[in-house]
Amino acid sequence: MSRGQREFSSQANAVVVLVQPRLNVRRVDHSNGTDGAERDEACILCKAKSFRFLVRGFDRIQSRADEFRYYRCEGCGLVAQLPIPTAVQIAGFYPEDYEPHAGARPLSRGKLINRLAISYFYSVDSVARPPLIRAVFRPFSGRIMRDLVEPHGQNRLLDIGCGAGELMAQHCELGWCVTGIELNSRAAALGRSRGLDVHNGTVFDAPFDGREFDVILMSQVIEHLPDPVRALRRAARWLGAGGKIILTTPNASSLAFRYFGSRWFPLEAPRHLFLFDPDTISLLAATAGLRSRYSKTRCEGWIIDFSIHYMQTQTAVLPTDLAARASMIEQSKRSRKRHQLGRKLIAPILSIGACFGRGDLIRAELVAATAMGDSNARFEIEGKESRILCK
Ligand SMILES: [Zn+2]
Repeated sequence: MSRGQREFSSQANAVVVLVQPRLNVRRVDHSNGTDGAERDEACILCKAKSFRFLVRGFDRIQSRADEFRYYRCEGCGLVAQLPIPTAVQIAGFYPEDYEPHAGARPLSRGKLINRLAISYFYSVDSVARPPLIRAVFRPFSGRIMRDLVEPHGQNRLLDIGCGAGELMAQHCELGWCVTGIELNSRAAALGRSRGLDVHNGTVFDAPFDGREFDVILMSQVIEHLPDPVRALRRAARWLGAGGKIILTTPNASSLAFRYFGSRWFPLEAPRHLFLFDPDTISLLAATAGLRSRYSKTRCEGWIIDFSIHYMQTQTAVLPTDLAARASMIEQSKRSRKRHQLGRKLIAPILSIGACFGRGDLIRAELVAATAMGDSNARFEIEGKESRILCK
């Protein structure tokens, strides 16, 4: 059986799991792990101290001796890297050429559908378009130009963890008033050099007292933070009336995580400290004084590409010999390519999985817990339970 066939067979088995939509993915890789361990650390969400070993993570973009262990909290299901690294350790996790900190693509207007979506839905001016036409685009807002945000309120946007300002620049082009926060000084400087208003620092030292935003973006940021609850609470202070926080983060309940394990690209050890699922996102929101208005999950081709690439070029457990480890990582970097066949075999199954909350990325909208009369709310939370929308 070829690798592609093995992958397909494994994923076909995984479809069986889909008939139990509320079942969490619990098992990933228990090799050399410690199950059900009582630990000194308490879960940041539910304060439980009982964790189940989930997977060993390795830095797959730079050679380092360490391995990083991920555990699932037995109280709430949050996946955490334990022990939680110190600030000094975290600073050392990011190489100089860390990709999310580099470059910025302009708004893609090449396809006709993109131009229509910009003109009739994403652009600030599009609110003047007939509501019926805008309504046509709304169901597809997570598909066409999926990282963009629909105009909201006075269109004041704060991008936390803005990198070199790619999303900021794109929203600026759409007519938003944009501000960013970026910890990495090189990325922040790059954003500023493009004329963007970027604070180089954290949410805790940003001089935004008295400022309000209609949308606060945290795109693949929350999983990098050692104290996501406190960061979210701080961000929530800047929400204007009717404002919302839009989070995107890897999904610990992803089917692909179950399959690829340590080589699932969004595990991104050691830089990802926590992995959430739609339920723990709701719990995170509640703990930070917010309410999750909705969450949906999605799959992306590039995640499949990178994960298959790791599967083909790196072992699940990297060699203990550092020279061999460095050689494997360098080889892996040099041979990066797209995996069209693997994508075609796996993508349909993962897309179905996304309808059941098993996609690779979660996108959630959080609003102030006290926000009332929200006519657009797609569901209400009972306790920490949430309903996942099918994309
Ligand atoms: Zn917990």
